[in-house]
Amino acid sequence: MGRAFVYVVLGGGVAAGYAALEFARRGGYSRGELCIISEEVAPYERPALSKGYLLPEDPSRLPKFHTCVGANDELLTTKWYKEQGIELVLGTRVISADVRRKTLLTATGETISYKTLIIATGARALKLEEFGISGSDAANICYLRNLEDADKLVNAMSSCSGGNAVVIGGGYIGMECAAALVTNKIKVTMVFPEKHCMGRLFTPKIAEFYEKYYAAKGVVFVKGTAVKSLEVSDGKVAAAILRDGRRLPADMVVVGIGARANTGLFDGQLAMERGGIKVNGRMQTSDAAVYAVGDVAAFPVALLGGDVRRFEHVDCARRTARRAIEAILEPSGGAAEEGKAFGYLPYFYSRVFALSWQFYGDNAGEAVHFGDFSPPVAGGKPKFGACWVSGGRVAGAFIEGGSPEENEAMASAVRSRAAIADLAAELGSRGLGFADEE
Ligand code: FAD
Repeated sequence: MGRAFVYVVLGGGVAAGYAALEFARRGGYSRGELCIISEEVAPYERPALSKGYLLPEDPSRLPKFHTCVGANDELLTTKWYKEQGIELVLGTRVISADVRRKTLLTATGETISYKTLIIATGARALKLEEFGISGSDAANICYLRNLEDADKLVNAMSSCSGGNAVVIGGGYIGMECAAALVTNKIKVTMVFPEKHCMGRLFTPKIAEFYEKYYAAKGVVFVKGTAVKSLEVSDGKVAAAILRDGRRLPADMVVVGIGARANTGLFDGQLAMERGGIKVNGRMQTSDAAVYAVGDVAAFPVALLGGDVRRFEHVDCARRTARRAIEAILEPSGGAAEEGKAFGYLPYFYSRVFALSWQFYGDNAGEAVHFGDFSPPVAGGKPKFGACWVSGGRVAGAFIEGGSPEENEAMASAVRSRAAIADLAAELGSRGLGFADEE
């Protein structure tokens, strides 16, 4: 049993949705030549799962957040794919890939062949078992990567109102889920081994603001230690036992301890780097017929001097997808001419409670803070941030509560690697005091 396509997108998440949109815009395929294979439903905007999806009132549900609604583009429902002549092979897991023969084998035993493959398999949530802790299959343990996980989380929250949740991990999944749990009237204790939340991105000063804000909402932080084991009874976790001996009673547990790129199908077949599939600035892998996009792709970033990086950011999924399709359909066009590295500005954002922050570039160098870090008075909107300065130039910028214009000013300062003196003047003219406190 088998089918043959010219273009196959493997994985049906954010990057796949934007790849489909770009194919449709450019019209570079005929009906029946392009397919997307995914074990999930039609591509959707994954960040919604930790935000609108978890709201107690009027939660967001599909089809509302299919791609590409996040970028104010069209809403790509299954009807749209049909109209565009793009085959969706959904609910289907690919279990092996043969890059030399250009074939994929699905769990249902079908062989799908391609001329050009676009790998968009994303990442998976790391499990507690990978850290030697058992209990992940308990009914009240939640991870958050896909719709199934999100539904389990929603059900756990609805049966736990007024109860206790332990959130394991202080990254953005932990922070966004903690905010959702509080909004759903659940008491939250967050546990993580780092000194402060968002340890890889936030400075201690930025982290202090968010931790105080969360504490004012009732969240308890247990830092500098980790969960050693889980106490399970009747298939449910009753408590988390910490390395320092403490016991945290739990009616539910949310785990956000990182992700790993889904590269396994291509191990030994394609070059790998930084835990992902290595691509050039056109998103082409070590096999010329295979491209990789989104969370799974490690690519040279022009802004970082051609350094190869991998980003698990939605904006990166969107842009690398467009880049790959442009390169595939216009091999001698802009994507090819721009040289080796991709002119991508790393960009990540998060929204929790009434807060909203954006980060651009690289948090390399010395952090210089600006704005007012005091807790907001009722109804007030905080506004502050930091710039990372390296060699007198702005390498990265973080801003909480920025207006679209301010966010764009930060992005353009990073993009142009502005001299720090120019940035101080620019921020001053926009009413953001530049408090050089370090
Ligand atoms: P994904 O969107 O993960 O899609 C991969 C798809 O491939 C999945 O559908 C998967 O099931 C499928 N797949 C994998 N292997 C196979 C296989 N063998 N066979 C068939 N199908 C397969 N980023 C931000 O910048 N800001 C945010 O606020 C933010 N919030 C997030 C919240 C959550 C809960 C999560 C999980 C992520 C969030 N992200 C955020 C990250 C962002 O969603 C990802 O960077 C983005 O989804 C990556 O897109 P992708 O297409 O590479 O992978």
